[in-house]
Amino acid sequence: MQQLIQITCPYCGAPTDVHVESSDGNCIEDCTVCCQPIELVVRVDANGTARVEAHRGDE
Ligand SMILES: [Zn+2]
Repeated sequence: MQQLIQITCPYCGAPTDVHVESSDGNCIEDCTVCCQPIELVVRVDANGTARVEAHRGDE
């Protein structure tokens, strides 16, 4: 199952929506605005709600 989560792009600062799996893990999604690869760290809380941290993949 996937969830649609809104993040802020760490490169250009634009809000962008990403689809993430509802389980802990890391993945890479390209920003829809600047096309840079955003590293996403997904953590799922006890309610099954996914929270996403967005990091630059080149740091
Ligand atoms: Zn961007």
